[in-house]
Amino acid sequence: MIKLQNVEKVYRTSSIETLALNNINIDVRKGEFVSIMGPSGCGKSTLLNIIGLLDAPSKGQIEIDGSPVERYTDKHLAELRNRKLGFIFQSFHLINDLSVIDNVEIPLLYRNTSAKQRRELAQEALEKVGLSNRMKHFPKQLSGGQKQRVAIARAIVGKPEIILADEPTGNLDSAMGNEILGILQKLNTDGATIVMVTHDEAMAKKTDRLIRLFDGTQVS
Ligand code: ADP
Ligand code: ADP
Repeated sequence: MIKLQNVEKVYRTSSIETLALNNINIDVRKGEFVSIMGPSGCGKSTLLNIIGLLDAPSKGQIEIDGSPVERYTDKHLAELRNRKLGFIFQSFHLINDLSVIDNVEIPLLYRNTSAKQRRELAQEALEKVGLSNRMKHFPKQLSGGQKQRVAIARAIVGKPEIILADEPTGNLDSAMGNEILGILQKLNTDGATIVMVTHDEAMAKKTDRLIRLFDGTQVS
C-alpha cells in the first residue's frame, strides 16, 4: 500500500547537515497496524511525515499502491493526501473557536460534499469515537482524551484507508491512552491501515508490527 525504498532524509541549514533518516525500507501492507518506536530525535516524525506525503525524501522512492510518488503533480498529491490519509497528532490541532462537529467537518470542506452530507458524516465519525453527546461543545470544554477523540473523528470523517498517528497518546494519562489505543484498534479491525509513532513500548507491543529507529537507521 505504501512502500519506502532506500529512503534518506537530510535537513540542511547554512551551517549544519543532519542525516535524519538513513536507508529506510518499509512496506506497509493493507490492514496492518504498524508502530514506529525509538528515542527522541531518531527520526520518527520525519518518517511519519514522509509516509504521509507531507515531506519529500532527499533520496529514495515512495510508492503508493504501486505507483511511484514522484510521478504525481503537487495538486494530485494534495488530493491523494486528502482522500487516502487521515492524520492524528499528539497535540490534537483542533481549532478552538469551532465546535466539535465543525472541527470534524474540516477535511470535507476540500471536497464536493454538501453541508447536509458533511453533518451526517461528521455525526457518524463522532459516534464511532463515542462522542456524539459532545457535538456542540468547544475544544476548551473537553478533557484531553475527548479532544483526541475529536481529532480521531476528524481524521476518519473522509473514510481514509490509512491513518497516521504521531504520538496520539503522548499527552494523555495511561487510562485515556488505552482508551485511544482501543479506538484505533477498532478502526483497524474495521479495515483501516494504521501507522503510529509511540514512545510507549506496551502500546507498541499491542500492534501487528514494530519498526525501531535509532539515529535515523532502522534497527528492526
Ligand atoms: P523524532 O520524531 O524521533 O523525535 P525527528 O524526526 O523530529 O525525530 O528529528 C530527527 C532529526 O532531524 C533530529 O536530529 C532533528 O534535530 C532533526 N530535524 C528535524 N526537523 C528538522 C528541521 N526542520 N531542520 C533541521 N533538522 C531537523
Ligand atoms: P508535537 O509532537 O509537537 O505535538 P505534532 O505531532 O502535533 O507535534 O506535529 C508533527 C508535525 O506535523 C509538525 O511538524 C507539524 O508542523 C505538522 N503538522 C501538524 N498539524 C498539521 C496539519 N494539520 N497538516 C499538516 N501538517 C501538520
